[in-house]
Amino acid sequence: MAGEAQADCLFCKIVAREIPATVVRETDTTLAFRDINPQAPTHVLVVPKAHYPNAAAVAQAEPELAGQVLAEAGRVAQEEKVDESGYRLIFNTGSGAGQTVFHAHVHLLGGGDGMHERLL
Ligand code: AMP
Ligand code: ZN
Repeated sequence: MAGEAQADCLFCKIVAREIPATVVRETDTTLAFRDINPQAPTHVLVVPKAHYPNAAAVAQAEPELAGQVLAEAGRVAQEEKVDESGYRLIFNTGSGAGQTVFHAHVHLLGGGDGMHERLL
């Protein structure tokens, strides 16, 4: 069924707290945690707790949930104090575009000079 946890999914395991992560924010429907291999001074991933393979699939199945992920990204940016200096939100979609974890997530990148993050 759409949105159901997948046994072999890394981010479903993080959502279930079966694998540790540095969680920065949580709601009923979303989780935000620090990327294990940061590409910027602030590098946080925001995921829907429900499993979808990519961001567009979330938006097509549950538009409200896609909005909640984006709203949470904005709150993380405020808490990390990059909302005024600026930040990037990146949704890699498909292995050809660098997606390696097939549970929808948005990268929030900010801080520093703001330029090296273009490489992600
Ligand atoms: P993507 O390449 O867009 O699929 O992004 C996946 C991201 O997940 C990469 O930036 C990884 O560094 C990150 N990542 C992989 N494993 C973990 C983990 N256990 N905890 C936090 N972030 C992770
Ligand atoms: Zn998953």
